[in-house]
Amino acid sequence: MRRDLNGRVTMPLYEYYCQSCKRRVAVRMSYSEFDCAHPKCSYCQSDQLQRLISRVRVSRSEDSRMESLADPGNFGDVDENDPRSVGKFMRRMGSEMGEDMGPEFDEMVGRLEAGEDPESIEADMPDPSGPAAGPAPSL
Ligand SMILES: [Zn+2]
Repeated sequence: MRRDLNGRVTMPLYEYYCQSCKRRVAVRMSYSEFDCAHPKCSYCQSDQLQRLISRVRVSRSEDSRMESLADPGNFGDVDENDPRSVGKFMRRMGSEMGEDMGPEFDEMVGRLEAGEDPESIEADMPDPSGPAAGPAPSL
């Protein structure tokens, strides 16, 4: 009674673990089919299938946070040529990290958001990567 021949593409995919051949099996069926379904393994035709519960994100781990940072879809509206847009992006990134990024970061973001040229901001910033950087920030 599978009706996926009429081009129905909205049927959910259910994941099972086949205890017989130890493989993961994905079974596509409608919700009503699922109610009374006894799906069979598509590899060995065994019905010893154990439903795999889809992973639910209870809390966002460090990894998934970094993933979301790396996902261009999250920050896809950044216009690299617009300092304000970059500043907004960096502020969002800073709050996403959940860390205090330090006064330099705040200052840089503030100046970006004010529309300053990123290059001149960068020139003002102490360079942590080399000893040849400008004068140490006075306290
Ligand atoms: Zn199997």
